[in-house]
Formats: sequence, C-alpha cells, structure tokens
Amino acid sequence: MDNKPTVVTRIPPSPTGHLHIGTARTALFNYLFAKKMGGTMVFRSEDTDKARSTKEFEDEIVAGLQWLGLSWDNDIVRQSERASIYRTYLEKMIATGTAYLSEEESKNNPGEIVTVVRLVNPNKTITFTDLIRGEITFDTTELGDIVIARNIDDALYHFTVVVDDFEMGVTHVMRGEDHIPNTPRQILIQEAIGAPRPQYAHLPLILATDRSKMSKRHGAVSLSEYRQAGYTKEAIINYLALLGWNPGTEQELFTLPELIEAFTIDHIHKAGAVFDIKKFQWFNREYLNKLTDEDFSKYIAEDFPTQLSDLPQYTTERLARALPTIRERINTRSEFHEFTTVGEYDYLFAIPHYETEILQWKNDAAIKDALPRLQKAAETLLGADFTAIEAIKSVLWPLTESLGRGEVLWPLRVALSGKKQSPDPFTLAFILGREETLARIQTACDKISV
Ligand code: GLU
Repeated sequence: MDNKPTVVTRIPPSPTGHLHIGTARTALFNYLFAKKMGGTMVFRSEDTDKARSTKEFEDEIVAGLQWLGLSWDNDIVRQSERASIYRTYLEKMIATGTAYLSEEESKNNPGEIVTVVRLVNPNKTITFTDLIRGEITFDTTELGDIVIARNIDDALYHFTVVVDDFEMGVTHVMRGEDHIPNTPRQILIQEAIGAPRPQYAHLPLILATDRSKMSKRHGAVSLSEYRQAGYTKEAIINYLALLGWNPGTEQELFTLPELIEAFTIDHIHKAGAVFDIKKFQWFNREYLNKLTDEDFSKYIAEDFPTQLSDLPQYTTERLARALPTIRERINTRSEFHEFTTVGEYDYLFAIPHYETEILQWKNDAAIKDALPRLQKAAETLLGADFTAIEAIKSVLWPLTESLGRGEVLWPLRVALSGKKQSPDPFTLAFILGREETLARIQTACDKISV
C-alpha cells in the first residue's frame, strides 16, 4: 500500500493585473501534475494587497484559466475574506512566543506608530530540496525578525501563503523561480505554526529572445492579448507546456489529456525558457489547419474587425469565397485581419490601385500588347460558370494555349489584384465574382488605352 498523501497543488494568483502567460503556464504545470498524480488543484485569490487587487482582474484570471480548460477542485478562496483565520494563527504564535507585537514607526507613513507582528527568527540555516533545482540552502540570520502582519488583522503575503497552503492541504508548491528567496522565509513560518513542509518545485523563468525576463516591452504578455489575436486554446496549452518542459521524445503536438499522460516533474528544465513567437505561431497554425472551412469562418467571426466590413466591396459571400485561400497563409486571426484590410489581400474587398506599367508581361514589347488578350479573357468570362475555381480555369486555359500562358495570366492577375504577386487569376476571379472580375478587366483595358 502506498500511504503517501494525495497530491494537492495550487494556483494562487494575485489579482493585481491581467492574466500573465507566466501565470497561465504555472497553472498548467500545477494542473498537469495534479491530474497525473490523481490529485487535486486548488485556486486561491491572493488579494491581500487591497490597493492593487481588483475584482475585474480576479474575474479575468478565473475566466482565462477556465477558457484554457484548467479547472480546479475547490470554491475560490480569497485571502481578503480570511483575516480572522490569520488572526487566530497570529494570536496563537504570540501566545506561544514564536511571534511578538512590535510598536514601531510605519515605513509607508513616517510619523505614524503601528503595531506590527514579527516572527521570532530562530537564526538558523534552512535547507530544502527543490524537485527541479536540487538542494538549496539559506542562512536566515540576515533576515532578522520578519514582519508577518502589518497589524493583527492585516497579515502579509509570506504568512497568508503559509497558513493557506497548510489549511488547504497543499503538498506541492510549484511556482516561478523568482519565489526561491521567499521559500526560506515561508519555511520559518511553517515551522513556527507547526505546518508540514510541502515539496517545492521552482519553474524556470520565461525569457524574451534577448534572454532577459519576458516583460511588456518585448510584446504581449497577457493571455487575453494572445486570445484576442486568435491563438487557440489548444495552441496556447501546447506551447506553454513546452516552455520549460519536454516530453523526452520528439513529439511536439499534444492535447491536454496527452500532456497529463506525458507530464513528469523531472523533465522540467532548470534553464530559463525562451518565448519564441515564431514557434508559437507555428503551433497555432497547426491547430488552425485542423479546422474545417466552416469552423475556420466561425473562428474568424469571433472577433471581426469593422475595418473589414466597412471596406467598399465587403460582402459575406465574397469573404466565404476568399477564406479557403487566405487561411493557407495566416497563423492567427489578427494576421487575417491585417492581410485583408491593409495587407497583401487588401484588393479583395476594395478596388486596387496600381501603376499601369505593371500590367506589362516581361516578354512583351509594350503594355498595349496585353489589351487584346484581356479583351479576349473578358469575352470568355462573360458566359463562364463562376461557381468553382476549376470551372473558370477550364474556360481560360485554352486561351493560354493559343495566346501564351504569361501573356494572358500576367495581365489578368494584375488587373484583378493590382499586384505582381497574388493567388492565381482563376482563384481571384472566383473570389471576386463575374461582375467585379469583368469590371476590373475593363479598368485595366481603360488604363492601357489612355
Ligand atoms: N500570489 C503569488 C503571485 O502571484 C504567488 C505566490 C506563490 O505561488 O506562493 O506571484
């Protein structure tokens, strides 16, 4: 029989800002480990910083983690609602002599006298075994008698964390490496209240490509920004899992259940994990590729830019015809928006503007050589079937055989897109439809004739 206690991990964000992708990764690792071990994960809102904590941030963090599919097994615990619990612990410590009240001048408000609670520091060396980094030793003497509460009703972070982890039966503390210096302080408090020491696993930091700690100046850091840009939750989960962990195999694509299956703490890295946006985009693309055209258009519609629907030639029908072509080229929804409004596909929903010269095929002596071929193409397309790309191609192809491929297709492509590079003109004609295709060819002919 295995008598080890059931694993309990925790996710204790401070609702003082948007849900950071680092917090999402920490939540993911805690979730994976708990599930893998048949244990549970608890959620706690560490909202003791009253000035900076807001309900809006808490709601955003909860909604973001739930959207990712990272569920927990308790009703949300809020530290702001637990002052009386902390007070009971503090009073017990004061009564037993492991803490004391100290009247002193407030650091925040010089001149004001406050009664803080200080831990009696036993001045000893603390050694703990980190599951990722091995043995870590600290001499706590230099910490002095740590302030653990601003007053008996206002406990501070180190104290609330220790009491809550104890009360919630947390067995594994898995959190960012920046918390390593906090651990010996928290162990001193555990020993003072008689709480067992959980196992610690400090996760590597997420770094920008310049290997400094990833921050806003490097780009988006909040989950909602990536979500809005159109990163799917599957891609986010998959990418975050590999930020500081590897499966020990070449496999890169994982679903959440597959990650649970594969996850082990001993494959978490010590070294910082570089956040590589190109790789992240690749994952997103992989997941988008799995969508049917119908689901892809739903995905695009989730956050639809008014700039696009305001374009002069926007119609839902044209968008539907364009989607299969555009989706091959984009990694995210925000790229789709950019491509279709101001980027390389801006001609799909607005009349293109271009220099007449680019209508000239490289083997032609003059631009006007294109004129009869464009007129012939227009004549052919007048009675053509526009319901499929192949149908359009089947009527234009004989023209290219008699008049030359580049000779016909080059000016036709430019007439339809205004660009030297674009999808082939059959696809463009299909997307634009008969009327607009003929209008654009006419415009090109007029440009050549002036
Ligand atoms: N509330 C802390 C934070 O958001 C986490 C504390 C912990 O994991 O012990 O950084």
